[in-house]
Amino acid sequence: MDYFQQHNPEAETELLYDSPYQLLVSVILSAQCTDKRVNLTTPAIFEKYPDAESLSAASFEELFPLIKSISYPNNKTKHLLGMAKMLVNDFNGEVPMTVEELVKLPGVGRKTANVITSVIDEQPNMAVDTHVFRVSARIGLTVNAKTPLATEKQLIQFIPVVLIHKAHHWIILHGRYICVARNPKCAQCGLRPACKYYQKKILPHSIIEPINPMLPE
Ligand code: SF4
Repeated sequence: MDYFQQHNPEAETELLYDSPYQLLVSVILSAQCTDKRVNLTTPAIFEKYPDAESLSAASFEELFPLIKSISYPNNKTKHLLGMAKMLVNDFNGEVPMTVEELVKLPGVGRKTANVITSVIDEQPNMAVDTHVFRVSARIGLTVNAKTPLATEKQLIQFIPVVLIHKAHHWIILHGRYICVARNPKCAQCGLRPACKYYQKKILPHSIIEPINPMLPE
């Protein structure tokens, strides 16, 4: 955490949004899809449907063409329409700010609910996506965590509460750009002294000079 605080203190989501509603739409669209692709798609959606009320009045045929360039457009169109209707009917058109309420919305699982509450409200909720799952296990932040929920529980047990909403972005961005799935870029990574994978699998065969451990004693 010290390393990330030093090197990426302003980490935040790469999704572009101006309101909780817009973030919710973006996160639903981002399942199995890159943030870049989502950011190319959302301006047209937000222009036509600036809030839950306008989106709730849209038809499948109207919304689908705006979404068809991203993955799983059929399901995502249905989820967005169902989500908007429920926001209007059950939540006065506003995005609720508890995980328990959010997961009732179509297309919203625990990961999405954790993203919304941590990004908008800085709640100490850890969203575990594929990057967080992989990177946490590789570094050794989790041990034998077999599911995203197990990863979430182990991470929030040890990361200081005030940093959890940021740690989510730190780990995701680290997984996206440095600790990539195949061939992690260990030579560029400042976490080498703290990384279980590096210390066990890479260092013994490496010509990279070991760097000073930065972990507290
Ligand atoms: S040292 Fe390598 S494996 Fe460890 S976190 Fe950095 S990039 Fe990932």
